[in-house]
Amino acid sequence: ILKINGLEKTYQSGQKQLTVLKDISFDVEQGQTFSIVGPSGSGKTTLLGLCAGLDEPNAGTVELCGHDLKRMNEDERARLRNKEVGFIFQNFQLLPTLTALENVSIPLELQGAKNAITRSKELLEKVGLADRMHHYPSQLSGGEQQRVALARAFANTPSILFADEPTGNLDEETGEKVIQLLFDLNKEAGTTLVIISHDMELANRTQQILRLKGGQILTNQRTALN
Ligand code: ATP
Repeated sequence: ILKINGLEKTYQSGQKQLTVLKDISFDVEQGQTFSIVGPSGSGKTTLLGLCAGLDEPNAGTVELCGHDLKRMNEDERARLRNKEVGFIFQNFQLLPTLTALENVSIPLELQGAKNAITRSKELLEKVGLADRMHHYPSQLSGGEQQRVALARAFANTPSILFADEPTGNLDEETGEKVIQLLFDLNKEAGTTLVIISHDMELANRTQQILRLKGGQILTNQRTALN
């Protein structure tokens, strides 16, 4: 579902070129659970942005859901993302002026879904927020906000879900709930999971672990789960 070949990314910092990713190639299979680990600054978030077509590489190719992202314009990439891709970010990125329900339903409505409200309510119930639907993000705890983000990410039943440190700001118990929900979605809907994490315990619960260091691949190994 995701094929990365010879990816390179450099940033311009003053006069200097900073290479943050170099010679990155790997595949993620449909339905797989895949994690990307590595020290701070090793390029994990940058790599996720390239995989999802949010950013463009300096060299190499990204094939997502059968499409070469380089051959698409921004509109086509956005349409592909809306249809096939879900995101969860470390800092939730909920819209503060919308309720939990609206945060989930409005993106769906914008995509022309007819049953947006019903589907959103179902998802919020599933993540245990039936009684918080009309709360604003500021009235929700970190864990509750992350569960709203998860419901939103899953609203369009994505083929692939990218999660950047999905438990980063959460206590252990709440983090565990969020992770359990992610794995449930993988099992029930076959959604491919690509998870960035510092947490090796979480990585070991995925089927494959890609280790990055200094912008390069250190190892890419299947775990004992296979
Ligand atoms: P962390 O675990 O701390 O989030 P990371 O592995 O996700 O780190 P990235 O955020 O991908 O790492 O950053 C990789 C490197 O690229 C870092 O050295 C960072 O400073 C640099 N970098 C990221 N974005 C930019 C940018 N827009 N301009 C210049 N340098 C950047």
